[in-house]
Amino acid sequence: MLEIRLNQPGDLELREMEPLRSPGEEEIRLQTIYGGICGSDLSLFQGRLHHATYPLRPGHEILGKIVEAGKEVGYDIGTRVVILPNTFCGECDFCLQGRTNLCRHKRSLGVNADGGFAEEWILPGRYVLPIPDNLPDEKAVLIEPFAVVVHAFNKVNITEGTAVLIVGCGNEGMLATCLADHLGADVTAVDLKPSKREWVSRLGRVRAAKPEEIDEETFDVVIEAAGTKLSVEQSIQHVAPGGAMVMIGMTQEANIPVMQMVRQEWTLYGSIIYNYPDDYLKSIQYLRDERFKVDEVVSEILPFSQAEKAYEKAMSGEYGKILLDFRGS
Ligand SMILES: [Zn+2]
Ligand SMILES: [Zn+2]
Repeated sequence: MLEIRLNQPGDLELREMEPLRSPGEEEIRLQTIYGGICGSDLSLFQGRLHHATYPLRPGHEILGKIVEAGKEVGYDIGTRVVILPNTFCGECDFCLQGRTNLCRHKRSLGVNADGGFAEEWILPGRYVLPIPDNLPDEKAVLIEPFAVVVHAFNKVNITEGTAVLIVGCGNEGMLATCLADHLGADVTAVDLKPSKREWVSRLGRVRAAKPEEIDEETFDVVIEAAGTKLSVEQSIQHVAPGGAMVMIGMTQEANIPVMQMVRQEWTLYGSIIYNYPDDYLKSIQYLRDERFKVDEVVSEILPFSQAEKAYEKAMSGEYGKILLDFRGS
């Protein structure tokens, strides 16, 4: 059995794993099918995630198949599942309100606990969700990253004709573009990179623009998915009076023009991951919908043995989402 190991920032290794023990009563042994590479995996690789621990097995966007289950786990062998990489206790005040994303005891698999970039691995049975048979693998692996967008969109009202600006066309920006388009919004997506604008323009009825091309324009809803100080500060300036901005990108800090914010009645939201199970179930519901166009988001599928190459491609910013295939090398 092989796994991908991040010994320290910049040091990715494909190596033979310690033989796996049998799963405990409440655990399962999962055979990974696909693993998605996400922006936070790249930050982790570059040593830019402050809550990360090394050495670590990365991987949090994981689709797999149960190959062994402890006796307290109610799933059959062969069940296809996605994982919930952000653990939650189920008992704290936030969990009891259904806000598992704010759990006081949250840990993140693939960030500060071992993740799923391995041919097989063991995890608690409560952190997997079975998925419907009619959802193909290539879409099912998007359930987790797309749930982030679903959660962000819960905060605002986007319907037919809403003017929406998506800032940053990485994985989350692309998925946000797909959803805004699906909801009938007038979507503008901006990115500094020509290749990203090219990708995003294939996703639907969307206008892809350079940041300077929208200089004077404002939008009902702005989704900030670039996560730099400058992009946050510029994005605020594109919120229409009475409008809202949802921030899913992360930067340490940015300046907020308070006078303008008060006078224009802007609403700013921070949005972190998703609540389980609600946002996961909603994510699945969209992905099962034939009319929801999302296929173009995935640009490459590489065998996991080429993880290093996959990371390099992802970091180049020239591609859409990149998946690792863990079924044989
Ligand atoms: Zn992710
Ligand atoms: Zn909790």
